[in-house]
Amino acid sequence: MAPTTLKRRSVVGSTARLENLSTLVLDVNLTVIRHVPWQRAVTMMVHGSVNMLASYTTDDDGVMRELMVRSPSRSHPLPFIVSLVQYVHDPYADFLTARNAKASTRAILARDNHRCGYCGDRATTRDHIQPRSRGGLDTWENLIAACVACNNVKADRTPDEAGMPLLFEPSTYDGFDSTLQEQVWQFLMEQSGAVPSGALDGLGEDAEKAA
Ligand SMILES: [Zn+2]
Repeated sequence: MAPTTLKRRSVVGSTARLENLSTLVLDVNLTVIRHVPWQRAVTMMVHGSVNMLASYTTDDDGVMRELMVRSPSRSHPLPFIVSLVQYVHDPYADFLTARNAKASTRAILARDNHRCGYCGDRATTRDHIQPRSRGGLDTWENLIAACVACNNVKADRTPDEAGMPLLFEPSTYDGFDSTLQEQVWQFLMEQSGAVPSGALDGLGEDAEKAA
């Protein structure tokens, strides 16, 4: 189970650490849904499916600045918290709100949108990334959606041994955490002066300066 504390939003902008940062996704009502890799959150921002409520910041010689990530065509603030712009039914969120949710086949398939982690085709099974016969556990981190073909081909091998690299990392189970939820609301209120139901890009830094 993930710790209940809201992650620090100020990070040192080294590439190695950047890769491991995640973005917290809230639904339209600012309810916590889950963490996603920040790369996915940036993609969602570009497609207009989420608004950024807060960005990561970096301490630049004592000056707090938005941490930016660059793509070939433009740069984006690195999102710390985003919210969906419209209600989307997220089957995985159903599992997050269940107590002690197990990484069942159904839950893993919902989490990974029924997409095979090895070939991208429609998945109907779950695969142990580190095989069970080799000590792999039934955890959210060690399970990935897989199609029957890939599951059979990979068998009792690791992705490296099988030459089947993962197309995406399995996201960990955050659990629905009322403490985290309260921290998020508190955080958003403190930085904007109001719950930013109509928050738009760039609110994070601007609101802090205005406060
Ligand atoms: Zn497959």
